[in-house]
Amino acid sequence: MTLITPQPGIMEIALYQGGKSKIAGRDDVLKLSSNENPLGVPPGAQAAIVAAAGQVHLYPSTDHAALRGAIGAVHGLDPERIICGVGSDEVLQFVTQAYAGPGDEIIHTEHGFSMYPVLTHMTGATPVRVPEAGRRVDVDAILDAVTARTRMVLLTNPGNPTGTLLADEELLRLADGLPERVILVIDAAYAEFAEGYDGGAALATERPNVLMTRTFSKIYGLGGLRVGWGYGPQEMIDVLRRLRQPFNLSELQMAAAEAAVRDADWLRDCVALNRDQRARLTGALRQLGLACDDSETNFVLARFADAAEAEAADRALQAAGILVRGVGGYGFPEGLRITVGDADQTGRVIAALSRWREGG
Ligand code: PMP
Repeated sequence: MTLITPQPGIMEIALYQGGKSKIAGRDDVLKLSSNENPLGVPPGAQAAIVAAAGQVHLYPSTDHAALRGAIGAVHGLDPERIICGVGSDEVLQFVTQAYAGPGDEIIHTEHGFSMYPVLTHMTGATPVRVPEAGRRVDVDAILDAVTARTRMVLLTNPGNPTGTLLADEELLRLADGLPERVILVIDAAYAEFAEGYDGGAALATERPNVLMTRTFSKIYGLGGLRVGWGYGPQEMIDVLRRLRQPFNLSELQMAAAEAAVRDADWLRDCVALNRDQRARLTGALRQLGLACDDSETNFVLARFADAAEAEAADRALQAAGILVRGVGGYGFPEGLRITVGDADQTGRVIAALSRWREGG
């Protein structure tokens, strides 16, 4: 037996299973498995990367001031209360690491983002999985699960893979119901697609225990570049900064993200495209007899009769060169999560599923 053992909780971590990106023997794959932006990279962001490329012999700025300033200006938030990370994953890691350890509990909901138990185990704390009700976050179930050991609630809103949004009143009820010593993290990776929703920004402005996390990976088309941010009470941000590596973001990342967040036309066009194609896809799936909640994100969760039927549909989609995400690991063996694409891509998905339904 080896004398070298990892910290408690590390061996509980299941390795992350990302969306597949290849189908053997095909070079025309349509990847709708990771909720990426069908319009690609914002043109200004691409130009900013090229412009910054000639300076990568220099270390990047350590304080992210320009990017935080741009995010703050666009969102109407205090840049001093913003922290940037390598994807929102890293910001979630800062907050879990800073405030939880062995003996503590971190609550997440039944279908919450798969990284939450991983991040919890990394700290040595225990993940507590709370049921949802009809694919919606259940505020009472969360409040009932709070114990003296609870340090944090990690909430995906809107949800992934459910696509449902916890209404503002319910979010407020959750924040009001939690003891102040428990941090509420509102992971709003898909907030821009839920029109009228602020991602929890107002709560994070007012409350001493609420952190909002956001990402450039979805609406801003920069998933491959890895940039995310968090916004919360000054005291909490000052704590998280201590955990951040001084050069966690390169100038390429910061320049691209700054160009993207300043591009209001991009945001508007992406929201509109997603709204239209999401409605079209949802309607078509229902016409094919599949169950499908209204989504507030850039993906739709299609529910089949059972796991076997979902697997058969997945095989038919793959035969048509389309990759979607099986979500058995999220508690939906009968489900497939399909990213909303552009008009052509959505047409391909609908055509492939229609052929499958007709037995063709
Ligand atoms: N939260 C949720 C709910 C997500 O779906 C994702 C990405 N799949 C993330 C956070 C992490 O995103 P990123 O690290 O790319 O910002």
